[in-house]
Order: sequence, then structure tokens, then C-alpha cells
Amino acid sequence: DVADLGLRWKPGFQTLGTAFLTHLRPTPLPDPYWVGHSESAARELGLPADWRQSDTTLSALTGSLPIADTNPFATVYSGHQFGVWAGQLGDGRAILLGETESGFEVQLKGAGRTPYSRMGDGRAVLRSSVREFLCSEAMHALGIPTTRALCVTGSDARVRREELETAAVVTRTSPSFIRFGHFEHFSANERYDELRALADFVIDRHYPECRAAERFGGNAYAALLEAVSERTAALMAQWQAVGFCHGVMNTDNMSILGLTIDYGPFQFLDGFNPRHICNHSDNGGRYAYNQQPNVAYWNLYCLGQALLPLIGEQEVAIAALESYKTVFPREFERCMGAKLGLADTRDGDRGLIEGALSLLAKEQTDWTIFWRRLSQHMAGADAQTVRDLFADTAGFDAWLLLFSERHATVPQALAADLMLATNPKFVLRNHLGQQAIESAHRKDFAGVATLLKLLETPFEEHAGQDAYAGFPPDWASSIEISCSS
Ligand code: AMP
Ligand code: MG
Ligand code: MG
Repeated sequence: DVADLGLRWKPGFQTLGTAFLTHLRPTPLPDPYWVGHSESAARELGLPADWRQSDTTLSALTGSLPIADTNPFATVYSGHQFGVWAGQLGDGRAILLGETESGFEVQLKGAGRTPYSRMGDGRAVLRSSVREFLCSEAMHALGIPTTRALCVTGSDARVRREELETAAVVTRTSPSFIRFGHFEHFSANERYDELRALADFVIDRHYPECRAAERFGGNAYAALLEAVSERTAALMAQWQAVGFCHGVMNTDNMSILGLTIDYGPFQFLDGFNPRHICNHSDNGGRYAYNQQPNVAYWNLYCLGQALLPLIGEQEVAIAALESYKTVFPREFERCMGAKLGLADTRDGDRGLIEGALSLLAKEQTDWTIFWRRLSQHMAGADAQTVRDLFADTAGFDAWLLLFSERHATVPQALAADLMLATNPKFVLRNHLGQQAIESAHRKDFAGVATLLKLLETPFEEHAGQDAYAGFPPDWASSIEISCSS
């Protein structure tokens, strides 16, 4: 038996050849059920409207039935984990079905062991799968580049982590799942023909402008490094502005397209603590919130190192990385300016931004609630709702005065619209995900669907749903999220 998803497939990553991948079949999971799904991801992928109606689709997406016209495979990569060279890694539990004519790779994460599983079981638990699913779709709705998630399917099959849990599969989609680590793999093994083939593949499909670039004396590989640096810088600016902590920024979790990828111990900030560490296993705080922009640069340096055999000169590679240092601050200022209702920032706005950040850091004020209330104030609500967030009201009032002065020449309605479309009311806080997960464990999937609905339109008010937009409960701080997933 074979399932037909109604998708058309075209040759993609597998055209690179067998040095890059291993063909294999997913390992079936018994008696699958739907846990959550995204109609918006389905539309983007080009699935037919009734895509969820068939049991063969459910089985196929859980790895239990082959899919027509696909020849699944897992890819090999390497990487630096927590700053240390980790050697060969690879898709240890993610199996690619291929690429659709609509231009998306489709991947089943948690679909069983592969030659790259090392000590792992090839599975993903329901808990982490629901988190990845919801956050992928939330980030997309926030306008932040990300891989997407079509659905989560579950099974009662047991998976051992710290405790016994149940298995799930996330069907993820992306124009490409290629990571910095793919390049590091072939470079470290001195397989420069494969390295070049991979770079050419990425340039041809995703960065064609690099071929024609005149910068770096027409060196397309240096142009690629610069383009990836710029996209990554822009992504970091968006993460910082929305208060997103990734948690495991290893080079194998860095997308060559500058997308957010591999949702593990991520967290949206509650109170603004710049040194916040969301990954319980990250003892040194290498991936703390305020380290993310620097770590991204460190990772890009690894990519530059990997591309060096193609680029040629060390100085050229360094020059290609330089763009990060101008693009990140520029994009961060742009993102923060938008949060402040400023479509264009100018000299002096940096001070207003820094002022807000130090005000929030001093009392660890709730990041999302502060920005949303400030937006509402711009739209006409009393400033007291924002002032209420601070013990040091004088400090806040002094900042608010500067803010108001800056806005004296900006039409208030425009500023309010910009702020309400920039500062979300709903983000996937840990405790919200946790509640949806606990319901899902009891086979009540309504919580996942309700949360998805809010996260898909996070800038809308959603009357009656304020419970999802409030401060985290006390127990939220005891949620421990680690790499174990
Ligand atoms: P991560 O830290 O989640 O990015 O994973 C690092 C590496 O471990 C990747 O090569 C993953 O494919 C692999 N991995 C993580 N969890 C598992 C698992 N349960 N089974 C097999 N491989 C895994
Ligand atoms: Mg990973
Ligand atoms: Mg992971």
C-alpha cells in the first residue's frame, strides 16, 4: 500500500548524490492519531483542501506507509556543539521525503533511526513535537523566518527519556534544511569536490544573485558567505526584538537560509533578563539571550572557515563576514524602532531604545506585556497601565517623557498601528505550551488547536482570550526544558 498526498515532487537535495545522504524508510509507529495541524502550512505546501481526511495520509506522515513518488533519505552533517567540534552528526531522527514542486522539502522528524542516529532512538516525544509545531507556526505568523510545521501525529508507542513518554512525528517543511554543519562536514573531511557541489547547489537554488555579484572580485562563495551573514544578522535582530531564546545555537542548528530551525529548549522571555538561559543543560550560559547575536557571528565564522577552500583567501572570508557587524545593529535598531512606533529611526533613537532596555532589565519587567501595553497606550489607553508594570515609576515616567517628545512629530494613529502590528499580544510562553502538552497527553487536542489559533494571528486582540496573554503563573519558572526531546 502507498499513500498519495496529492503533492507533486521534483528532484532536489538527492541530486547531490550518495555522499550526502542515505536512502531509507521511516520506521512505523503503531495506531497513529492527529495531534495538531496547520491549514496555513498545508496551503503553502499546496496540499488539497481535504488532505487530512484519509487514514493513509495519517499513517504515511507517521512513517508507517510509503508515499507515492518519494524515495526518502537522511542527510549527513557535522558541527560544533557548545563551541566544541563534535564530528559527524546528521539527520538522526529526521527523514526527508523530498522536495515538492511548490519548492518545499518535507521532513518527518521522529520517524525512526538512521545511520546518523548515534546513541539516539530516532524518535521525538509528544512534548517536544508539540512545542516545535506550535513555535514554528508562531514564528511564521510573527514574520520571523523559520522552517514550518504542517502537523504533529502521535502514537502510544513508548519512548524513554528521563521518564517514559510517548512518540510523535512532526512533519516539517522548508525551502531547505541545509545547515552550516553540512558545509563543515565536507570541509573537515577535506572532500572539497563535495563541498563545492553543495555550495553550488545552495547558490543556484537559493542565492542566484551571488553568481553575478561583483563584490570580492566575482568570488561567488565569498558572496554566499556574505549573504548568509546578512540573513543571519537580520534573523538575530528579530529574535532579540521579540524576546526569543533558541537555546541550542550549535552550528548544526544554523540554517544556511537564515531560518529559525530545530526548536528544542527554546523560550520566549517572560521578564526581561538579558542573561536569561532557557536551556537547562546550558550551564555556562553560552546560549543566553544576550549572547545570541555574538554566537551567531561565531557560528558564521565556522561557516567561513568551512568555505575557505572555496573562497581561497582568509582575508576575503573575513571581509565577507564583516557585513554581520553592520547589518545586525542596523536591523536591531530597525526592529526596536518599530516596537517603539518609529518607522524610521534617526540619531538619538539608540538612546531611547537603550533607555527602554535598561528600564526593563532593572526590574525584569515582562517583555511581551510591556510592549503590548505601550502599544495600547499609543492607541489611546491611559499610561497608568504601563506605569503599573514598574516599581520605579519615576524612572518610567522620565523615559516616557522622552518617548512622547520623540513622537511629537509622528502621527499617533500611524505609530499605534505600527506598534500593534509589531508587538504581539500572544507568544508561546513555556507555561502555555506546557498546558497544551498536558492536555495532549490526555488525548485532548483542543488545547493545541486553541493555542495555534491565537499564535497564528498574534497581533489581534482575540476578545475573551486574555488568559493566554497574561503574566506567567508562579509554577512557570519551575518548568525545566533541556535538550532531551
Ligand atoms: P540537536 O541537539 O537536537 O540539534 O541534535 C543533535 C544531533 O543529535 C542531531 O544529529 C540529531 O539528529 C541527533 N539526535 C537528537 N535526538 C535524537 C534521537 N532521539 N535519536 C537520534 N538522533 C537524535
Ligand atoms: Mg539539531
Ligand atoms: Mg533538536
